[in-house]
Parts: sequence; C-alpha cells; structure tokens
Amino acid sequence: MRVAVLSDIHANLVALDAVLRDAGTVDAIWHLGDVVGYGPDPDGVVARLAAAGAVGVTGNHDRAAAGGREIDWFNPDAKAAMQWTRGRISETTASWLGALPERRTEGETLSVHGSPRDPIWEYITSAAIARASLDTMTTPLGLHGHTHIPMAWVDRGERVEAVAPRAGSTIHLGDGKERVLLNPGSVGQPRDGDPRASWLELDLDAGSGTWHRVAYDIGAVQSAMRDAGLPIRLVERLRHGI
Ligand code: ZN
Repeated sequence: MRVAVLSDIHANLVALDAVLRDAGTVDAIWHLGDVVGYGPDPDGVVARLAAAGAVGVTGNHDRAAAGGREIDWFNPDAKAAMQWTRGRISETTASWLGALPERRTEGETLSVHGSPRDPIWEYITSAAIARASLDTMTTPLGLHGHTHIPMAWVDRGERVEAVAPRAGSTIHLGDGKERVLLNPGSVGQPRDGDPRASWLELDLDAGSGTWHRVAYDIGAVQSAMRDAGLPIRLVERLRHGI
C-alpha cells in the first residue's frame, strides 16, 4: 500500500496540486491537519482533498476555522489570516473541517497533527519531547506535523535518534519493534529554509518512507494572498521557506 502523507497544506492549492501531480496514483492520501489558515484558497484545498478521498486529522488552524477558541492563542498575523479564513469559507468547508478527529489509527499507524501526547498543540522539536510521545504510542508508526519541518524520531530504547531528512531520503521502518515518529514537512508553508512543498511517501508493504520536495508557482500564491489582503509577512515567508 502506497500512501501520500501531507501536512500543513494551509490553504495553498497551487502547492497541493503540485504535490498531487508528483505523487501520481497512490492507494491513499492521509493528511495531518492545518488544511487551512495562512493561505488564500481554503475552499479549494478542502474540495480537492474531499474529491481525492483524503482522510486525516484536525490541526489548531482547522479547529479555529470551524469556530474554535484556538484562535485566541494565535499570533497577530495568524489571527488576521484566520479571521479572513472564517469570513471566507463555505459551510461545506467549515463542516468538513469541524468533522476531523484529533487522532486517527489505521492498521499500525497513528496520525495526529501536533504530537501523540497532545494532538492539537504540542510541537515535537526535541528528542525529549519525542520520547514522551513515543512512550504513549500503541502502534509502531506515528505521523505528525505542526512544526512544518521534515523529521524522523526513532526510538532506540535508551535514546531517541533525530533524523533530518533531505529531499529523496528514505527511512526503513524495520520490523516494527522500534517505534518511529515521522513528520512529512509542510505542503503549503515549509519552514526548513527550502521553499518547495514537502511530502512523505509511505510504502507500507516495503516498510519505508521517502521524503519528496516539489517546486510550485510561489509567485502565483503570493499574488493571490496580496489580492486577498492577507498579512504581508505571511506572503513574504513563502519565498524563503521560513
Ligand atoms: Zn501549521
């Protein structure tokens, strides 16, 4: 079974379409939340995911877009973009977002947005934080997003190994005895200094995961954001991937 794992699409339809083209025919599309927020095309992204049969979990931005109090914790740019998003999305989009679960388990894989320990808000940014989540997992494989940075956290027993994958890097998931947390990076707003869209290809039969990076028309998205009156700092950061 070949699965395209996508996270933090953030209403960036041009990036999503580039990733879907790159992925080609897959058996499933799993998303890890933050489908909307920041970007200019929330309805378009939700419609595309729904049409593709994508399944996934909710993120802090999805909760906020569906009317949740999460917006109170947003920084000023994120809050301005979220207010724009709330005023813009259709009822269909709002109810699709509102129906996303916090956690999703399929076979041997758990999907969350933030961390298995705290699915909405926690950022896994260190081996210690990864350890706390790996210890809560009842499946060998966990998938998470939220940091917008591609990563692998591998449970080696006495320590957690942090692996920062490059484009094309493959991780072998072993025999299922070592628990692993994988972050596909962000489709719509990468923050590791590479502005290209990031996604993870899982081959569950071979037991491997491969990270991919895809160039897309960043300028087109930036103009749509300017036209929408979204915060300029959010427009600028797409070009730099930060
Ligand atoms: Zn995000």
